[in-house]
Amino acid sequence: MGLLPGKKPVLPAPDDAGDVATAGDRVLVAEDDPVYRVALQHFLRGNGYQVQLVSDGLQALQEARSPQAPRLLLLDWMMPGLQGPEVCRQLREFPAERYQYVLLLTAKDTTADIVAGLEAGADDYLTKPFDAPELLARVRVGARMIRLQDSLLAAQEALRFQATHDPLTGIWNHGALLELVRAEVERAQRKSSFVSLFMIDLDHFKRINDEFGHPAGDIVLHEIAQRLSLSVRPYDVLGRYGGEEFVVVAAELTSERAYQFAERLRTAVSSTPILTSGSAVNVTVCVGVVTTQLHSDYSVERLIKSADEALYVAKRNGRNRVEAAAPDLEIEAVS
Ligand code: GH3
Ligand code: MG
Ligand code: MG
Ligand code: MG
Repeated sequence: MGLLPGKKPVLPAPDDAGDVATAGDRVLVAEDDPVYRVALQHFLRGNGYQVQLVSDGLQALQEARSPQAPRLLLLDWMMPGLQGPEVCRQLREFPAERYQYVLLLTAKDTTADIVAGLEAGADDYLTKPFDAPELLARVRVGARMIRLQDSLLAAQEALRFQATHDPLTGIWNHGALLELVRAEVERAQRKSSFVSLFMIDLDHFKRINDEFGHPAGDIVLHEIAQRLSLSVRPYDVLGRYGGEEFVVVAAELTSERAYQFAERLRTAVSSTPILTSGSAVNVTVCVGVVTTQLHSDYSVERLIKSADEALYVAKRNGRNRVEAAAPDLEIEAVS
């Protein structure tokens, strides 16, 4: 059952194997011969693939590099513009974010040709004239490889999320937070601009746990993270520093503005009671804030220490309040 130019190809009935007709199964077919082109299009469509057609190598390269390009590429070897292996070589030189599986179609069938095609970065090849079921089987191998890679990438992404986020609140965890704070601080130093760090600690949280139970305490923590994340700007950093302590880092605020911002955070948390199963819990927080002075040299550790000291003052002064690090506590140059 060959797909021969000049002959009407005998096409097997489309089959409905469940692994074919998913939205991701799009194929870019690059073929300069109109008879092969039409036959490939018809056959692949009949088997559930969406087909995008081009007729020369330059178009193939351009389409394959476009943002929504198919991940399965069927490239003829001999084409005007660029030959299949050269398209392949150029694609592999600057690979797309997601792997593209390349199947070369060729009339060349010497071992040297095949080696050259695979060396150019092709994943598989098929010699013309080819057998339709074999073509379909090889295209399915490609689709399988793509799905495999997608599921590995999804698993990797999930692991990365787990490693950097706090499972209870969904915001950055301690480790990721420190890295992001460090990056913000370095950027502020490079640009000689302000950076502010806010240390936010729940007041008498132990009592909330004691009175309403630990699960209710967890709901409170989750809701506070929500309220804080709705109060910060998109480019501010918010993370869970520890048990009932949160940190926000915000760039480009003067110390007056940082103080106002801290007040906003405080009221955002405490203005309405938090509903846990059956109880409305009133919660307040203290915020210790520190803002760097311009052109000074400071460390992340020093920033955190200053914010912590201001927080301690807020606790001592009665809770449910904001305290800024006193100017002499603010960051002096570290030599
Ligand atoms: P203060 O106003 O001085 O900050 O008092 P506090 O009770 O908030 O502070 P303390 O450090 O004495 O207690 C913190 C409590 O937070 C103790 C701990 O059990 C609770 N906690 C820490 N992490 C979690 C958590 O993930 N879930 C719950 N429910 N409680 C937590
Ligand atoms: Mg050709
Ligand atoms: Mg605490
Ligand atoms: Mg506390």
